[in-house]
Amino acid sequence: MGMDTRKALSELLAHQKRIDRLSAAAGILFWDEQVNLPPGSAAFRAEQNGYYAELLHRESTLPEVGQWLDTLEADRDSLSDDERVIVKEARREYDREVKLPGEFVARRSKARSESFHAWVEARKKNDFASFAPHLRKALDFSREEAEYQDAEDAYDFFVDVYDPGMSTAVIDPLFAKLSEGLRPILDTILSAEDTTPPDLFRGFPVDGQEAFLREVVAAFGFDFNVGRLDRAVHPFCGGHPLDTRMTTRYDPDNPLDSLSSAMHETGHALYEQGLPTDYPGTALSHAAGMAAHESQSRIWENQVGRGRPFWRHWEPRYRAFFKEQLAKVDSDQLYRAINRVAVTPIRVDADEVTYNLHIILRYGLERDLFAGRVAIGDLPEAWNERSRDLLGFTPASDTEGCLQDVHWCEGMFGYFPSYTLGNLLAAQLWYAAKDTLPDLEEDFGRGDYTRLLGWLRENVHSKARRENANGLAERATGRPLGTEALLRYLRERYLPLYTT
Ligand code: ZN
Repeated sequence: MGMDTRKALSELLAHQKRIDRLSAAAGILFWDEQVNLPPGSAAFRAEQNGYYAELLHRESTLPEVGQWLDTLEADRDSLSDDERVIVKEARREYDREVKLPGEFVARRSKARSESFHAWVEARKKNDFASFAPHLRKALDFSREEAEYQDAEDAYDFFVDVYDPGMSTAVIDPLFAKLSEGLRPILDTILSAEDTTPPDLFRGFPVDGQEAFLREVVAAFGFDFNVGRLDRAVHPFCGGHPLDTRMTTRYDPDNPLDSLSSAMHETGHALYEQGLPTDYPGTALSHAAGMAAHESQSRIWENQVGRGRPFWRHWEPRYRAFFKEQLAKVDSDQLYRAINRVAVTPIRVDADEVTYNLHIILRYGLERDLFAGRVAIGDLPEAWNERSRDLLGFTPASDTEGCLQDVHWCEGMFGYFPSYTLGNLLAAQLWYAAKDTLPDLEEDFGRGDYTRLLGWLRENVHSKARRENANGLAERATGRPLGTEALLRYLRERYLPLYTT
């Protein structure tokens, strides 16, 4: 490697680290907005976010970065494999940033904050009309961005932002196959009698819920020394591998929501905390994409957290916290209630079997919105129609329909498919881990997750962004993303509960 190349590489790495640290600070501002911000300060924060987005954009698009990349690409043969991965990803990000005018980035960021607060209000009041102008703006911003990027297809462009290499051409057949495969499973379940006592989960004191789930989160391996778990309206995992910020929420009458949300976010956090930190801000310290991220949250939430072995260990502890509430519930009833399948309106509360239908609904609508087949004003009706088709019911209100998710208000179109792709990947990884470690689930019966975490660290976390979701699936599970593993898993877990 020549002097110039060496110098360009070290300058680029120093720059990427600087961006990484600055973005992490922006992440803390976002976390603070969700956890602590007094309502009257929302407009002030929106302004701050706008300036911050502009600053980050300016830093990321410095002309020197382009020159370093040119130098490195010209001397590509002298780079190691890892260095090539760094350069390739830095180029991808730089080219995308450079095409966006700074004023656009600032304008969009400010609009996103305003839109978020408008959405919170609209959802509270079931008032789609007050949110519609913000949603229209969010969609216009996305269209404008796709134009700057000369994207051939605007929607595909955003899918690729969240999951490099992914496209509607890959997703369409996967989703079609999945919804076809889910149908008979769901039909069998829905034709069986629902034996869960309706008021099983009532009056669970919030303090006990929090104390219990903190024990679970710590047992999974979350490092509280470099991370926090706080309360927010919407559970999320943000921050940075060196300062991870998770949130969950509590409802005395819905204790499974806080627990499964916390296990889910812990899966994200374990991925973040397991990423290598040697080359901050580069592909060697970033997650593979959102599908890979969701695969990690799903494994801990579902394959682990809803399984019998998990509950074999934790049930006595759960009962110690909620002695009175669970006095008349036996172990079997508790397990069935945790794995209850029912068609319900809210995606984040959905069981594993119906969850992907909620995603398929949103995916179809996003594509219709981008193609202009559905106008913003017609969204509630279009949503309800798809809900009838896919889930068999009409939501009682827009709050339970098209206003339920945060993504669109923040302009995150193209993100939803990652959830289902993540579920596919989670099931594949689950079977691959169990093939390598056949008695893995016996560990969970002892509350021990070190071998699973170790397997995920080795096969997923440590690889960072060296490959995309499909590449990860092929290397770690021996096949590309497909629907077989997830359908097999759902049949194995749920049919025995509903066909006795
Ligand atoms: Zn998630």
